Amino acid sequence: MVPKMNVSRIAIVGGGIGGLTAALALQHFGYRVSIFEQARELKEIGAGVTITPNAMHALNFLGTGERVASEAGPTEPYWIRHFQTGERLKLRANGADYVERFGADYYQVHRADLHAALVDAILKNDPDCVVLDHCFRSLTQEPDRVVATFTNGKSYSSDILVGCDGCASRVRASVFGDEAVNYTGQVAFRALIPMRDLPTSIEKMPFSMFVGRNRALLHYPLRHRTLMNVISVAREPAWQAEGWAIPATVDEFVKTHSDFHSDALDLIGAVSSATLFKWGLRDREPLQQYTKGRVTMLGDAAHPMTPFLGQGACLAIEDGMVLGRAFAAANSYEEAFHMYENARKDRANGAQLASRQQADELQGVTERGANPGVNAEERGLFRYNPVTVPLITAA
Ligand SMILES: Cc1cc2nc3c(=O)[nH]c(=O)nc-3n(C[C@H](O)[C@H](O)[C@H](O)COP(=O)(O)OP(=O)(O)OC[C@H]3O[C@@H](n4cnc5c(N)ncnc54)[C@H](O)[C@@H]3O)c2cc1C
Repeated sequence: MVPKMNVSRIAIVGGGIGGLTAALALQHFGYRVSIFEQARELKEIGAGVTITPNAMHALNFLGTGERVASEAGPTEPYWIRHFQTGERLKLRANGADYVERFGADYYQVHRADLHAALVDAILKNDPDCVVLDHCFRSLTQEPDRVVATFTNGKSYSSDILVGCDGCASRVRASVFGDEAVNYTGQVAFRALIPMRDLPTSIEKMPFSMFVGRNRALLHYPLRHRTLMNVISVAREPAWQAEGWAIPATVDEFVKTHSDFHSDALDLIGAVSSATLFKWGLRDREPLQQYTKGRVTMLGDAAHPMTPFLGQGACLAIEDGMVLGRAFAAANSYEEAFHMYENARKDRANGAQLASRQQADELQGVTERGANPGVNAEERGLFRYNPVTVPLITAA
């Protein structure tokens, strides 16, 4: 496709799910992009991610949905269970009629599989699109370009730049000032367990979420039920360590959940310390403006959110799709950024705040105690289609 505008150099900082989707969408509409990623190798962490119909629309449109779905395998509903009694409180994600209701399906995907599907599609379009080992340091905006500099001493001039560098975004700090990235008071444990190592109690009910008293533990199978994904988020007042992959011990995991139902403890008991990691969740206040001049923000860099609605990656995918469409529809980059921000800000910032509320419900800190809360589906988030949502031009 021939690009509509004369925007020949687009820089994307960050090769996570958001940056990759934005790149693929822009390529789809004829634009050439360069992704600058700090890592020496493009990869994702070993964990699951739920991709709901709102995001599947974009993956389907961009040609990666089928691969993601076929690698994930069918998704089944999961039970919300009381953390102590194990009582089944509510059946969730009963997706049998999602295609009929929302026009797309729901998948529980290994992050590495989603990431690889996006990378392969991008590199097929342009083998030189990804520039590794480039850690963004700062940028300057000039009348006709934006110049990014990297910690390796290199720099790159582009017509526009998209900051997709995650929660602790340096692009955001460069453009909007260096405000705090807050520790949310929540620590996440994550592990993968081969299905053959699971206790019978979990084999019988492989999809569930135990909720209550400051914790929420979710488990669901990945890759056609060959791996069990386990993620638990627990309130913990203080946190010092940095990073996504801090090794944790099974003893520590058990201790944090010692009052949980025996099924949950059986599951934790099957974890091997070699695959167990923890990290402190971080959050920022909603960004009131995503764009300044020739730079805009996308994904966690724009709207980092806690994982209680399972929507951070889905919203990053939506962002990327809408950004691509805006560049296909607009007559200038200013107009495209306006269309993008207009279509995205209220939705993404709203989900960011809703996710905090949902934490309080699931973790039983409201008067109602442990309860299923109001999930993303019930909040209407699955009804959004980033491929067709109207894009409004500046007045
Ligand atoms: C426990 C947990 C569970 C979750 N579960 C779900 C779920 O089920 N469903 C869902 O939709 N979402 C989920 N999320 C949210 C989701 O993981 C994030 O919202 C998503 O990964 C954001 O993608 P991103 O591309 O914006 O940012 P990131 O994934 O953080 O990617 C940022 C990229 O930028 C690179 N980068 C960073 N700094 C620089 C720099 N200075 N220079 C160059 N490159 C840089 C990084 O290396 C990385 O590749 C979960 C989050 C957590 C914490």
